[in-house]
Amino acid sequence: MKAVVYKGPFTVAVEEIERPGIQHPNDAIVRITSTAICGSDLHMYEGRTAAEPGIVFGHENMGIIEEIGQGVTSLKKGDRVVMPFNVACGFCTNCVEGFTGYCLTVNPGFAGGAYGYVAMGPYKGGQADYLRVPYADFNCLKLPPGEEHESDFILLADIFPTGYHGCELAQVRPGESVAVYGGGPVGLMAAYSALIRGAKKVFVVDRIAERLQKAEEIGAVPINFAEGDPVEQIKDRTEGIGTDKGVDAVGYQATAHGTEREEPATVLNSLVGTVRATGAVGVPGLYVPSDPGGPDEQAKHGMLLVAIGKLFEKGLRIGTGQCNVKRYNRFLRDMIIEGRAKPSFVVSHEMPLDQAPSAYDKFDKRIEGYTKVVLHP
Ligand code: NAD
Ligand code: ZN
Ligand code: ZN
Repeated sequence: MKAVVYKGPFTVAVEEIERPGIQHPNDAIVRITSTAICGSDLHMYEGRTAAEPGIVFGHENMGIIEEIGQGVTSLKKGDRVVMPFNVACGFCTNCVEGFTGYCLTVNPGFAGGAYGYVAMGPYKGGQADYLRVPYADFNCLKLPPGEEHESDFILLADIFPTGYHGCELAQVRPGESVAVYGGGPVGLMAAYSALIRGAKKVFVVDRIAERLQKAEEIGAVPINFAEGDPVEQIKDRTEGIGTDKGVDAVGYQATAHGTEREEPATVLNSLVGTVRATGAVGVPGLYVPSDPGGPDEQAKHGMLLVAIGKLFEKGLRIGTGQCNVKRYNRFLRDMIIEGRAKPSFVVSHEMPLDQAPSAYDKFDKRIEGYTKVVLHP
């Protein structure tokens, strides 16, 4: 079968690899119909992680059940399913508590597993014709048959739940104002989720025109950080007080305002400035314990200069971490089915799997409006 294989920094290739088979009675094999490229894939693509050449990318996957192991009871051949990017067992302490992003059994020595991701276990990615799904009863979310809502449902694998998770971490409530830093797929989904949750006003900070325009289209207020300090721009629009809540949908690869320089703590510090005293900040944006490509010695070890004194003075709460997709995917699916949510507005490009190399290149450069790419094997 064909699969997208990492070859080294800034290079992927579509290659023939062996088709996966059932390895355990609880496995299912899914024929992939849609698989998306994520901002998180770019961390590996740019060679900023320990990812070795040969890894098959793809943690955002959906498709049709092709084969099930003898122990799988809730699924049958032909079912249409979407999988959380997290691989989880369903029975460890963390899974039972709903923290499926921190499963204790699927990736020994590390809390949490994922498909096609460095350090997240031995699971191959789904940017391929077929994918092996462990603990299939737990990890497959059933979808209505047919082809309707394909580009909405694929976003249930990661970014729609992850954006929602950003709002959950910040405890966004109806009537509140929210500042979302980052207008990439995760930021747009966080802004969309904040609006779904009844926020009165949502700001989206970025500098890429197409992304700010998408933010405006869903009813958020675009803030271009290339046009001045975003903290001041948002304070000017909130009577000098700032917002009730904030979401960091950028992570450590943040650009310092007014420069082209990467400064990993920029967004955290902007949020400390933007959110009013006693507000809360959700951080789905990725931070890592080690970053060989970091701009200074501390950053290379995941140590950042964050304004913790100001954060304390303002009594801000902060929540971080991987999204536990399974906590949210079922009800977000139902909102799509009922026509109450249509996250596919974020999808900018759909193309055959063969075109992955060019899609990675353009998405990495954020050119030609590349915001979210869905590949079809
Ligand atoms: P992306 O790179 O497409 O989007 C990031 C956006 O941030 C870009 O549009 C960029 O222009 C903007 N940006 C850069 N510096 C900024 C600044 N100082 N202020 C405001 N905006 C700035 O990535 P994405 O796919 O949207 O993902 C965003 C982050 O979320 C990444 O770190 C990704 O790894 C992470 N992520 C986390 C989870 C999770 O489970 N927690 C899941 C998926 C993705
Ligand atoms: Zn992803
Ligand atoms: Zn578990």
